[in-house]
Amino acid sequence: MRLPSLNAQILLGALFGIVGGLYFHTLGSASGITHGSLYAADLVGTLFIDLLKMILIPLVFCSITVGIANLRQQQQIHRVWVTTLLFFVFSMAVAMSLALMAGNYFKPGSGLHLAMFEHAMQNFEAKQLPLPAFIAQFLHGLFLNPFAALAQANVLSVVVFAIILGVALVVGGERFNNIRVLLEEVLAVTMLIVVWVMRLAPVGIMALLIKLVAVQDAAMLGTLFKFVTVVVGTLLLHGAVLLPLILYLVTGKSPLWFWSGAREALITAFATSSSSATLPVTLRCATNNLQVKPEVAGFVIPLGATINMDGTALYEAAAALFIANLVGIELSLAQQIIVFFIAMIAAMGAPGIPSAGMVTMVLVLQSVGLPAEAIAILLPIDRLLDTLRTAVNVEGDMVGSLVVQKLVMKRVLPTA
Ligand code: ASP
Repeated sequence: MRLPSLNAQILLGALFGIVGGLYFHTLGSASGITHGSLYAADLVGTLFIDLLKMILIPLVFCSITVGIANLRQQQQIHRVWVTTLLFFVFSMAVAMSLALMAGNYFKPGSGLHLAMFEHAMQNFEAKQLPLPAFIAQFLHGLFLNPFAALAQANVLSVVVFAIILGVALVVGGERFNNIRVLLEEVLAVTMLIVVWVMRLAPVGIMALLIKLVAVQDAAMLGTLFKFVTVVVGTLLLHGAVLLPLILYLVTGKSPLWFWSGAREALITAFATSSSSATLPVTLRCATNNLQVKPEVAGFVIPLGATINMDGTALYEAAAALFIANLVGIELSLAQQIIVFFIAMIAAMGAPGIPSAGMVTMVLVLQSVGLPAEAIAILLPIDRLLDTLRTAVNVEGDMVGSLVVQKLVMKRVLPTA
């Protein structure tokens, strides 16, 4: 019997995971079957993420260095670099504007009684995160001894060192050809390992979703229903309408073509809630299915996985408005503009790991004087919302790579 394609298997794995999770949810945690099954699901899911993380650092390092080294001309590097950053800022700005408009219109949180949440807030101590300290910490994190950065799996500083090394290889030219060829081969062999890891994706994704769905707190979801609806609605609007529209307007590519090529990465992001863990899959989808040239994808996708987070920026802005409504504070236009900028910084600074956006959200709340402890209210539903915002984050990276390829490469290389 022929097995369905990997793409279809991953989709089936996700569906079985959700259905299985609902089943164990209804069985209840007291049941022995639930206990054993969730233990197994947790183990398998974590092992799948471990495998992706194992390959992540060599992949990021080689793909960025080789990507830049192959751009060859310094002028071309400059154009890719500037277009990429401009696109990231633009798409995050669109996402946050959407969240602020929806938040102002639907006003989730107003009318909810804070007393219900007082217990959660009292028992939660928010970490202080003053903006200057956050920026200083972010900047210090950029430049690390590369060996330490590689060993500690510090993605951001690996990205920075790989960019510098890539530029040095371009400037050095033929002299460093051996290093470039060696890194190209390491990249090719790492991508081969990614193919092997992806064979396990259907089972890994199923296990992750079983665990996630089974342990959800349904009552809390009901209480925060309006907020959850606004967040999910705006994330879907951004991911299913605006990003594809931007893609279509710039490249002429249809959304259906994009989604069928991007599906593996979107489902993996949904199940792992980690842009970093998904990165190997994202890179494979971009180069294999979406025909992004490796030198563009190799640069845009790893950088995007660390700093381009449309879903997280959208969530942070929406959550700030929600908490303001909850505590009965009307944020002025000036305060909302502050939220806009700080949410962008906070999203860029959030590492691509589960619930990272929740930690950097403290920064957004503090910037307009909202009680940071209020994020305790959102913690129980965070993992669930993290699924969708991570998928939107990863979608933004893939759209970005296609847009950059179209805008930058059209005069230099024939486009796909
Ligand atoms: N989990 C998200 C990501 O990896 C970050 C976040 O919003 O928490 O992209």
